[in-house]
Amino acid sequence: MNEKIKVGILGATGSVGQKFIELLNDHPWFEISEVGASERSAGKKYIDATNWIMKNRLQKDIAELEVKECIPNFEAKLIFSGLDSAVADEIETDFANAGYFVISNSRNHRFDKDVPLMIPEVNAEHLKLIDVQPYKGGIVTNPNCSTIGMILALKPLHDAFKIKKINVVTMQALSGGGYPGVSSMDILDNVLPYIGGEEEKMETEPRKILGKLGDGEIEFENNIIISAQCNRVAVIDGHLETIQVEFEKKPMKEEIIEAWNNFKGEPQELKLPFAPLQPIHYFEENNLPQPKLQRDLENGMAASVGRLREDPLFHYKFIVLSHNTVRGAAGGTILNAELMKAKGYLDKIL
Ligand code: NAP
Repeated sequence: MNEKIKVGILGATGSVGQKFIELLNDHPWFEISEVGASERSAGKKYIDATNWIMKNRLQKDIAELEVKECIPNFEAKLIFSGLDSAVADEIETDFANAGYFVISNSRNHRFDKDVPLMIPEVNAEHLKLIDVQPYKGGIVTNPNCSTIGMILALKPLHDAFKIKKINVVTMQALSGGGYPGVSSMDILDNVLPYIGGEEEKMETEPRKILGKLGDGEIEFENNIIISAQCNRVAVIDGHLETIQVEFEKKPMKEEIIEAWNNFKGEPQELKLPFAPLQPIHYFEENNLPQPKLQRDLENGMAASVGRLREDPLFHYKFIVLSHNTVRGAAGGTILNAELMKAKGYLDKIL
């Protein structure tokens, strides 16, 4: 490919928006041409509108960009959205109607009948829904950040052994709540036992993601019982989840590990730039995975699992860790866009 595809970032000043900017530096296919945020930021230079908290320095060319209002007058036809869900619904629809392809991290369009809820290794075929969308452009969504880690770990097990029940308890990082997020007085020396809307998302989104593509919509996987409890903990990045799972027929422990180790999807087959070589890494060590140690595995795009053992209530229990703003948001979006590009879905905007 000679020319890179121009990308506009909506919600560019936030937690997910900043991660987009950090991750897209030197991307082989995509380059940021425009950034958008609220009226509070519009008209300012990006460097003045944001409090840059990424590890890597802000690229000079991005620092100088003028922040735009989030209206569909962008030159870039591919839009990555990290918008606050209070405003994402209408803005994303406006862009899609105007011919833009929007890949969103917000909850608003996730359950629209014709909108794919994508984890590229899990349900790449759901992209076909784009063909039945009424928009001049299109909308694709990323699931909730905790759902993504959980489903990456469970997809190969569901395929091989059919899951009946899931109980999940999350310990979610601060960056998952946006920037600046919860106050230090609330979270230091503490665990917050409630994250608004999160448990409902974890209990419903897997049904669509694991569903089958029917005639213009997804037939939901409604045969799994899911119970989720979500907590906010004093970790900056990386959601850790403890999962109990029951199958139609209990497999051997070795069979589960083999299913994880062998799991690959279309992103790996297509060798997409952001695809982890191995989406799931199994750790034998009793004290792993940990957010501080494993969240950046394969550039934050792989899920780490460990502590697999038999469970007296369900069949097995284990731990999964994934990076919430990378695999769970910006990185997942970029991988979706790469998959769309590779499968020709972006041809009409090129
Ligand atoms: P955030 O840090 O609060 O950022 C929100 C962004 O939305 C900011 O750029 C903000 O711009 C912009 N915004 C707010 N009001 C606006 C308006 N009226 N018009 C245009 N832009 C507006 O939130 P975040 O954590 O990045 O999350 C963004 C979205 O991704 C949310 O829907 C969230 O649920 C979802 N998500 C987050 C994560 C995560 O790990 N953080 C993971 C998955 C999904 P200003 O700076 O100008 O206010």
